[in-house]
Amino acid sequence: MMKVEKTEEIGEREARLFYEFCVASINAEVAAYLESCVRCGLCAEACLFYMGENISGKIDPTLTPAYKADLLREIYKENFTLWGRIKKTLGMGVKIDEKELKEQVKLAFYTCTMCDRCTKVCPMGIDTPRLVGIVRGALTSVGMAPKDLVDATNTALEKGSPLGVDVTTFLQRIEFISEEWEVEIPVDQKAEWLYIPSSIELMKFPSSVAAAAKVFHHAGINWTVSTVAHEATNFGLFLQDREVSKELLRRVLRGAKELEVKTIIAPECGHAYQSMRFVAPNLFPSEWDLKVLNIVEFIYLMLEEGRLHIKKKVVDRITLHDSCQIGRRGGVLKEPRYILKLLAENFVDSVDMPEKNICCGGGGGVVVVRDADYHRQKAFLTKAELFDKTGVKNVACYCANCMLALNKSAQEFNRDYKFISIVELVADALEGGES
Ligand code: SF4
Ligand code: SF4
Repeated sequence: MMKVEKTEEIGEREARLFYEFCVASINAEVAAYLESCVRCGLCAEACLFYMGENISGKIDPTLTPAYKADLLREIYKENFTLWGRIKKTLGMGVKIDEKELKEQVKLAFYTCTMCDRCTKVCPMGIDTPRLVGIVRGALTSVGMAPKDLVDATNTALEKGSPLGVDVTTFLQRIEFISEEWEVEIPVDQKAEWLYIPSSIELMKFPSSVAAAAKVFHHAGINWTVSTVAHEATNFGLFLQDREVSKELLRRVLRGAKELEVKTIIAPECGHAYQSMRFVAPNLFPSEWDLKVLNIVEFIYLMLEEGRLHIKKKVVDRITLHDSCQIGRRGGVLKEPRYILKLLAENFVDSVDMPEKNICCGGGGGVVVVRDADYHRQKAFLTKAELFDKTGVKNVACYCANCMLALNKSAQEFNRDYKFISIVELVADALEGGES
């Protein structure tokens, strides 16, 4: 059984392997990013972790996106530039010790959700999440990824889900949801569409799974869930462990093939969409011929085709929290806004450009890592400032992981926002629908 290792002993071996992993990850694209930073500082105010500290009156330059790639940049220079090589020969090369590696854990795993907001403001187009991803991968490879993430990943490898939802539990939850919300959920049927929920929804937001089922029935599609492809999340992405990502996606591929589906409907989960829509075709170039739609894209498509009929407005005033992985990185930004305008008397956007929305603070696995709580909470202050500008308390979401992180942070700060799944709102608004 594949397993991610975790070590407490950090020494020269770990430093050397970390360094070698970084060097091996530098290709032409990465080199271009590392070479082209002009230190303009524009990315600092794009980063919710840097801004969160600012709101608290502290300036911490180590939280800027550019700084998060600094060690990788030094490693690049030492190996691929003349001056870097000279410095190394003169004994002024990169020194990596335990303290430095622990600092990298903070930078890559605690204070970056890989939200991509910094990339959008960078005049050089530097993809900082890509660089942070290399550092994450290097730390994982030497056993230094945060224990909470490693444990959840190993549970996913062993049982099928980071929350320990195995096939038996999956079937029990599906039965419970079916009975509680009086909606049929077909299991392991040959079908055109495969809906893969996340275990976060199954265990913590089951009403959103029931709502999805009602939407599918209303649209009249031929759909199913699968006991093989029963988990949409992929913690391999958080750890940047290619083999783990591949193993978890292999289950999705096998489940989809067995049921002869054509299109996967990814749930309200940001990294699940990234994983199936963008990572999978690269990991399985000859086998992955599946179309992947996020459920919000699916709803938009069905509305366009006249297969869903919104009967009523179900909320008065509402704003929107975008999932970074589905929205900014996945390009699904107009769809949730279109849908919310149908559902709400008054939709108040919190940003002038959808690409500018701010992460929940818990993406990229940060919400799972208890040692990152301080930074997640600081980051939430940036988010809360955006909500408060709208004066609206109802916040629509299309990622269960975001809802988890936002609920947690809002409770910690005693804020009374109400986070609501878009799919649930749609199910409520459909003709005859009450989710
Ligand atoms: S990807 Fe997001 S969290 Fe990470 S450095 Fe950039 S803005 Fe900050
Ligand atoms: S915005 Fe881009 S070029 Fe400017 S400091 Fe940040 S990463 Fe470097």
